[in-house]
Amino acid sequence: MRKPIMAGNWKMNLSVVEGLALAAELAEACQGVEGVDVVIAPTATSLYPIGQALKGTNIALAAQNCHPAPQGAFTGELAPPMLAEVGCRYVIIGHSERRQFFGETDEGVGEKARSLIDHGLIPIICLGETLEEREAGETMRVVKRQLKAGLARLSGEEVAEAVIAYEPVWAIGTGRTATPSQAQEVHAALRQEIAHLFDQAIADRARIQYGGSVKPSNVRELMSQPDIDGALVGGASLKADSFAQIVGF
Ligand code: PEP
Repeated sequence: MRKPIMAGNWKMNLSVVEGLALAAELAEACQGVEGVDVVIAPTATSLYPIGQALKGTNIALAAQNCHPAPQGAFTGELAPPMLAEVGCRYVIIGHSERRQFFGETDEGVGEKARSLIDHGLIPIICLGETLEEREAGETMRVVKRQLKAGLARLSGEEVAEAVIAYEPVWAIGTGRTATPSQAQEVHAALRQEIAHLFDQAIADRARIQYGGSVKPSNVRELMSQPDIDGALVGGASLKADSFAQIVGF
């Protein structure tokens, strides 16, 4: 009953020209794809031209970050209304790279989620434990804390429309994927936590993506898990054929 959502996070890769070429290839490869939401998140400099190029296709545009304020003296930042204006439908927030290198906090992710929804955008709220946290048996405590803060300012209805991405930090860009059962265990716990914070009907509707070295060879098994509703893909989203295979899992 939950529509799968496959999102490609291009991170700080590809020029505008290269991004436009990849978007065009993907649009062609995904033509006629139904029953899956397909999303790409190019760099900020490519958002406007790629947004224009995606018009009339079945691929939605996402940004990789935002500032929570609608405008103001925040040098170097991008506000949700600006992202909506260039055609974004989704915005990734709380990615582990932003938490690790740019000081993004649990509380800040919650603020961004609120602001995005206020401006008609859908947050993709990323969370996940580090290797040290997993080895210390802290995974569930950490991801539930991140989830609670990320959803703190949202109503149940808004949570049902938002997207959550579980990305174990040790699996991002490392080639080391969580096993389907490791991922399922955390996804089920996150859904249970949403039911606890809101109610079961909201939890049943909220989409939870898995991210961390997803590729064509492992996507199907991950997607066969009952609580995995899609993938947030880094490296394998930079080539049209691999991302198209993931979309067609
Ligand atoms: C990501 O950037 O969110 C990610 C999961 O990267 P990769 O697929 O390269 O591990």
